[in-house]
Amino acid sequence: MRDFEYVAPTSIDGAVQAFAGANGNARALAGGTDLIDQIRVGRWTPEIVIDMKRIPELNILEYSASTGLRIGAAVSLARVHNHPDVVANYPGVEIPTGFVGSVQIQNRGSIGGNIGNGAPSGDTISPLIALNATVTITGPRGQREEPLEGIFAGPGQLTLQPDEFLVEVKVPPPAPRSSSHYVRFIPRAEMDIAVAGVGVSMTVADGGRVEEVGIVLTSVAPTPVRATAAEGVVRGQQLTRDIVRQAGERAIEAASPISDVRGSAEYRIELVKVLTRRALASCAGQLGVQVD
Ligand SMILES: Cc1cc2nc3c(=O)[nH]c(=O)nc-3n(C[C@H](O)[C@H](O)[C@H](O)COP(=O)(O)OP(=O)(O)OC[C@H]3O[C@@H](n4cnc5c(N)ncnc54)[C@H](O)[C@@H]3O)c2cc1C
Repeated sequence: MRDFEYVAPTSIDGAVQAFAGANGNARALAGGTDLIDQIRVGRWTPEIVIDMKRIPELNILEYSASTGLRIGAAVSLARVHNHPDVVANYPGVEIPTGFVGSVQIQNRGSIGGNIGNGAPSGDTISPLIALNATVTITGPRGQREEPLEGIFAGPGQLTLQPDEFLVEVKVPPPAPRSSSHYVRFIPRAEMDIAVAGVGVSMTVADGGRVEEVGIVLTSVAPTPVRATAAEGVVRGQQLTRDIVRQAGERAIEAASPISDVRGSAEYRIELVKVLTRRALASCAGQLGVQVD
């Protein structure tokens, strides 16, 4: 493994300075479950590795009914998964943080790392996008908030500049009568990455008509991708088996999968249909809405 300098700032300002002084050749380190191996195999060759775990703001995990959920970028997946307010309000976040990798990976790996990897297979990303999450990004030119949906540029690539980093993820408070879910397919029980996955959020009116819906696909395009045509099928409708089936059929319009060792493109397309139906049915089930 190539040598690099290691720094562990204890403030956001300290991290900004470390990035600013690295001439664009630094990488943020959180749990290191991906980054260390990526440096070992030469995918990244940073001069400086900047440890984010000692920065207090990146370790915030808090929920308020009026402002929603804040997850610091260095917060471990296990902490998120076990937080009572996440369990009570955000099943779509609780579920994937409980099955990324293994217990060891969940204890070590972070939300910021799962996003920062830029992998189309990142399991926390689709449900967070479906829940309209935003990210706070900072760097030498200041701080800004952006929809999470907009920061993926391609496999392994974010729109962030090399001297910028993620501070936190914010998820809006759940609307009354809302639910969320994430479902993925892997050929093994665990320790594998998604062949395909679907994150869904849903809000229904009294009587069960769908007021708002988010449907986002994992591992079937160069980035996580919103299935807007499928959302259009469901929004404003009373959920029926036919509407759910149609949503699955239309979800594939957003998918442009590759064939690889995990599955062919054709197989992934079929998975998108099935997983979309299942995720929608699960959201409806959480709300006691019958899908007839
Ligand atoms: C055996 C194994 C199984 C796995 N299984 C899964 C799985 O099932 N599902 C899944 O989604 N992933 C899986 N992963 C991938 C990985 O564990 C997760 O993506 C994890 O969340 C990464 O978090 P980390 O804190 O370890 O990231 P790190 O390795 O520290 O960083 C990952 C990337 O994010 C960047 N980064 C970290 N923090 C920031 C920040 N604050 N701002 C900007 N960029 C940042 C780093 O520079 C790096 O490029 C697996 C990995 C292994 C080794």
